[in-house]
Amino acid sequence: MTIFSSSNVFSCSKIIFIGALSFFISGCASMPSLPSSPFQLDQLDLSPLQGKVIVIDPGHGGKYGGAIGKMGLKESEVNLGVALYLWGALQSAGVKPIMTRTADTTVAAPSHKQLRADLLARSMMSNTVNPDLFVSIHHNSNTHRPQKNNLEVYYKLTDSGASQELAECIMNRIRNAFSITQAQVLPGNYSVLRGTRATAILGEASYLTHRENERRLSLHGFLKLEAEAYFLGILDYFARGVPRIFDVTPDGDVYTQAQPEVIGWVKDDAYGKGIDPDSIKLYLDGVAVEHFYDLLTGKVSYIPSHPLKNGEHTLLLEARNRGGNSAHPVRTVFSVALPPAAVVLSPIVETIPPDGRSRSRITATVLDSNRNPVADGASVAFSTSAGELADSVVPTSFGKATTHLIAGYQREEAAVVATCNGLRSSCTVTFDKPEKNLLEISIYDLQGNPVKGADLICGKELCCVTDYLGYCFYQKDSDEELSFAVWKDGYQSLKGSFSVKGDEVTREELLLKPVDNGLMWNKVVVIDPHGEDGISTSLSSPAIERAEANFKTAFYLKEMLKLAGAKVFLTRGNDFIPSPAERVIKADAVGAEVLISLNHKKGSSLGYYFNSIKGKFLARSIKQSIDDELSCKKVKMIESTNFVIVHTEMPAVVVNIDYPKCKRLPGDKEERAWTEARVIYQGLRSYFQSNH
Ligand SMILES: [Zn+2]
Repeated sequence: MTIFSSSNVFSCSKIIFIGALSFFISGCASMPSLPSSPFQLDQLDLSPLQGKVIVIDPGHGGKYGGAIGKMGLKESEVNLGVALYLWGALQSAGVKPIMTRTADTTVAAPSHKQLRADLLARSMMSNTVNPDLFVSIHHNSNTHRPQKNNLEVYYKLTDSGASQELAECIMNRIRNAFSITQAQVLPGNYSVLRGTRATAILGEASYLTHRENERRLSLHGFLKLEAEAYFLGILDYFARGVPRIFDVTPDGDVYTQAQPEVIGWVKDDAYGKGIDPDSIKLYLDGVAVEHFYDLLTGKVSYIPSHPLKNGEHTLLLEARNRGGNSAHPVRTVFSVALPPAAVVLSPIVETIPPDGRSRSRITATVLDSNRNPVADGASVAFSTSAGELADSVVPTSFGKATTHLIAGYQREEAAVVATCNGLRSSCTVTFDKPEKNLLEISIYDLQGNPVKGADLICGKELCCVTDYLGYCFYQKDSDEELSFAVWKDGYQSLKGSFSVKGDEVTREELLLKPVDNGLMWNKVVVIDPHGEDGISTSLSSPAIERAEANFKTAFYLKEMLKLAGAKVFLTRGNDFIPSPAERVIKADAVGAEVLISLNHKKGSSLGYYFNSIKGKFLARSIKQSIDDELSCKKVKMIESTNFVIVHTEMPAVVVNIDYPKCKRLPGDKEERAWTEARVIYQGLRSYFQSNH
């Protein structure tokens, strides 16, 4: 592919070599030609750039050289060359440009041993100066396809507004400057983009592994042209005007009324053509609401149409100008906490024997004036005229506060009183022979701590769920032998039977043991069953089968992980498949520790991102488990270029199992998916075991 209009061949005298380059181009005859530069700073209207602050980040540097060409040209030096030219042009145009580095060195202090630290140092620098833009300059490589020489400009994955618009402007200018046909703007979640708060892009203007291009990249004139294209792209962006959103309220406040007025302001700058009213979007708790916009003042306002529930709420305000540039969206969080207006007290069991040990759970429900549960943490004080209370002051959670009343030794009535914010409610529990039999189960873990939220299943019904004291109560009319099971994610299930008789209390203490010693507890795992090819318009049956198989394995793996106490998220349902970028955003948003992508294409393999040490280790752990258990033919470790694997923050792996090539996988679809899930689970377990 030719990416030049060869109108202007530099003469030998004009060729300057980058000082530190380790290679040398000999002879004028082989000099690459450069396109002409229309760049005349003094003929441009530079006013939109005045006073702007732009962080320029030449990628790599020092021991992290980045890509390297066949002839030895280092990406870190090429990036720096372009960055320095860009710095000069921006400086002359009235911008305050800030370089993350000005020499071929790392950005983080040399004492930092990890690449991660060097990347974070770049974002940190940007976040400290809070610039208008962050521009990271890179050049790509593909040693497998040396003929590849595309242009790719990445924008911050989570910002399909300003960052994407800037990326479009820069991509257009670079494409036009070098007449590139293969040019794309893409979402990217590279560390410097992810960690930077400002509008941010990362440019990969061309490929260093393309031989002819490597020669061009060794010429100052070429780097200067590239820098000029960046400059013009940035100018185009600012010339359209950059609107802003400010003073959005409520922000961080606690409201004691349920319909607080929402106000925000949107304004374009002097270079834009004004705000596009249709582009203004206001979201309350993620749902778009009908706001009012005052064209003259730029005020956006909204009053909730119904009382908001107590607790936390979020606001998001977005807007664009008529030139198509987005303002930085503004997000705020506020709380509604209406005072308690009613307390209702009730016991779970009204009569318990006067044995000095039987219990009844007492629940206080605290509601506001709209009959909504009050915000968590309202303090409820309990007292009783007889017997004893397990706790006498308890904060509300979801509008409820609970304690236990423990029976005394006399037949009498206990008057239990709860007070909250000056409100009072009472109930009675009688210490006497109960009319029904009573099941009082308490569940503990190995450390003797109560287990909250365990389900007690009697026969096939849910009898009760343990409270924060580990207790669960159930009453039966008839005598019977009751078979039971206890389920709680993270613990091994427990089965057995009770005999409930007459008017007695059946009291049992049960012990729950963790699954895998609690290794998976609270681990956050994202499972990403591939499916793009399963819902495309050209549905081939193998593709559908594959998408279904991917989902089936994901389902079983999710169940296994949940039972072991992990928190599991799937990137798709069985019918809806979000884009790769959306899947990455989701995985990052839930703070996943690992991402497991599932596929069943030809040729079994474990794919990881080449730059991720943990990702590779994760792939190896799962491969080991597959090798041990499934006897698949030739399972390969490969570097994946899959978008989700490359762009997620957490260690990620694509597990691709080629069913027909794995001897020990059962033929039945369900059994096969279950077996596969179990094998992946085991690999994951060994990953977490050696990677706390
Ligand atoms: Zn790079």
